[in-house]
Amino acid sequence: MFARLLDFHALEWRYEPRSFPLQWHPDGTVHEAFTPDFYLPEFDLYVEVTTMRQDLITRKNRKVRLLRSVYPHVKIQVFYQKDMRDLELHADSGSPGEPPIDHVLFSAEDVERRVGELADRISEDYAGKEVKLLGVLRGSVYFLTELSRRLRIPARVDFLAISRFAPDDPAPQREHIVQPPHDPIEGEHVLLVAGIVDLGLSARFLLHELAARRPESIHICTLLDRSSRRLVPVDIRYSAFELPAPFVVGCGLDYRQLSRNLPYIAVVKPLG
Ligand code: 5GP
Ligand code: MG
Repeated sequence: MFARLLDFHALEWRYEPRSFPLQWHPDGTVHEAFTPDFYLPEFDLYVEVTTMRQDLITRKNRKVRLLRSVYPHVKIQVFYQKDMRDLELHADSGSPGEPPIDHVLFSAEDVERRVGELADRISEDYAGKEVKLLGVLRGSVYFLTELSRRLRIPARVDFLAISRFAPDDPAPQREHIVQPPHDPIEGEHVLLVAGIVDLGLSARFLLHELAARRPESIHICTLLDRSSRRLVPVDIRYSAFELPAPFVVGCGLDYRQLSRNLPYIAVVKPLG
C-alpha cells in the first residue's frame, strides 16, 4: 500500500535494503537489529510503516528511537497506516451524507483572525509587488477567497488541480496536473495556496512542476500544516494553523466532497 503511494508520487524506493545492528552481546555479536521497511534514495530517508495495532506501534517506536540514538546521522520516519485510512475516508465513494463532527478545532473567528494576520504578513513581505495567488483545487478555494480580500497589495487569482491518490485504483496513475493554471506564471511572484499540507508529497510535486514554468518566485501558503506527518521536507512560508493528527473538514476541506462549506474547522469522529 505504501509502495503504491510512493509510485503515485514517482518516488524511487527500495524495500528493506539495510539492517541496522542496535545492540550487541559482550562477545561483539549482534543481539538486536532493525530493518526499516523502505528507503527513499532521493531523500536519503528510511521509512518504517506501522500497522494499526498499538502494541506493535509501541515496539516499533522504541526501535526507531534506538536507531536514532545509535545512528544519529540516519534519517528515519514512521508512516502510520492510519494516515492511509484517513485518505481513504477522503475519497468520493462510500456512505452518503455529512460526516459526524467530533468537535470544532478552529472556530470561524479563529480562522478569520489568522487569515487576517497572514494577509498582513504577505502584504508586508510583498510590498510594492504584485502577487499571483494560485489555488490548488478544491481545498484552497475558501481560504484563498478570504485571504485575497484581506491583502493590501495587487493580487491575481488563478487555480489548478492535481490528480489524487486512489489506494484501490486497479490502474494507478502517476500524479499529474489535471487542470493547469489558466494563465502563465513566468516572471510572477506566485503564492501556491493550499488547504492543507500533510505528507508534503503533493506540495513538493507542485513546487517542482511549477518551478519549471519559471516564476520570479514561488512560496507555499497553506491554511493547515500537519507538519507532524511530513514525510519529505517542504519549505512552507505561510501557514495559518498547525494541525494535529485527526482528520478534519471545513473551510474547504471535504469528506467525500461534503462539508467544505463549514465556516469552521472540525475534527471528524473516528469511523468504526
Ligand atoms: P499531502 O500533503 O499528503 O501530499 O496532500 C494532502 C492532501 O491530503 C490534501 O490535499 C487533502 O486532500 C488530503 N488530506 C490530508 N489530511 C486531510 C484532512 O485532515 N482532511 C481532509 N479533508 N483532507 C486531508
Ligand atoms: Mg519491517
